[in-house]
Amino acid sequence: MGRVRTLVRDTLGTLLSAIGMTDLSRRQAGRLLVVTFHRVLPQALREKYPFPGLAVTPEELSWFLAFLKDHAPPAPLAPAFESWQNAPAGNAPTIAVTFDDAQWDNYEYARPVLQHHGIKATFYAPVNAVGTEQSLWHDRLGFAVRELLGKGEEHQLKEALSDRELPCLPHLDSDSVTQAAKTLPPEQRHNLVEALVRATGTTTCPEWNRLMNWEELKTLAQDGHEIGSHGLSHELLPQCTEQVLTREVVESKSRIEERLGRDVLSFCYPNGDVDDRTEGAVRTAGYKAAVSTRWGTNSTATSPWSLRRCDINSAHFVDRHGTLSRSRAALRLSGLQPGL
Ligand SMILES: [Zn+2]
Repeated sequence: MGRVRTLVRDTLGTLLSAIGMTDLSRRQAGRLLVVTFHRVLPQALREKYPFPGLAVTPEELSWFLAFLKDHAPPAPLAPAFESWQNAPAGNAPTIAVTFDDAQWDNYEYARPVLQHHGIKATFYAPVNAVGTEQSLWHDRLGFAVRELLGKGEEHQLKEALSDRELPCLPHLDSDSVTQAAKTLPPEQRHNLVEALVRATGTTTCPEWNRLMNWEELKTLAQDGHEIGSHGLSHELLPQCTEQVLTREVVESKSRIEERLGRDVLSFCYPNGDVDDRTEGAVRTAGYKAAVSTRWGTNSTATSPWSLRRCDINSAHFVDRHGTLSRSRAALRLSGLQPGL
């Protein structure tokens, strides 16, 4: 974002905050605000991660949770949703905190921060990858792209993309290649990931880039956190056949329930991809609620199986000087300037 734009953004944030226009309690009173985190990585690891925009540091997470706590006590999705449905607060939002993908870093770095603040959250697990030391496909792709570009092997990358008839990308990086890969049918996408991983000459992501195992998920559940389903294989569900879709939503639920001995009440659409058919399958499978990645907060008119969320990364609460800023966070969550 350009310097002038960030100056305008921060000045607007300060002004609106001074006159109370972006006050979270006022702006989002009576609504359900669900925040989304993905990775929680110390700065040294975030620099090595191909999608730094998906990561906050433990310090940033702590700052942001304290900010939320000043407005309402955050809770996991299912209990927050239930209490909000029964009686929305009149003078504050109901706040839920969610983490997608059940990454090991959440266990290692987010858990102590949550404990420190006395906050319970929801962790959405893609069941097939739990405990396998296998990274999700977008991470494998991201690390492979980064590795190839680092080695100056751009041509390999370009060739693999054009072999699959993907358009020529103006800027080659992990993000743009991943976005392009999402447009491919599942089979071809997996094929592309494997081809690029093979081209790097390595087969794995770094050791710290694994998902949690069942023991770690069980510990989180015992702490009082909610474990929700993120499907079986992080497949983009609208692309799935009827049979695969049903298995993704039904089997992921029953397998977590068997392993952890507690009900799975909420679902998170991989990549946020949801259409009417997918929503219907999740509803039929018996989930009480499901979350998408559509930006925003929820009114009682919103479908419980297509709840909006506010994804959070440090760019959303750090000002142009690199300082953690309450007025910046308030502006972002107010929804007044979603592009800023
Ligand atoms: Zn995910």
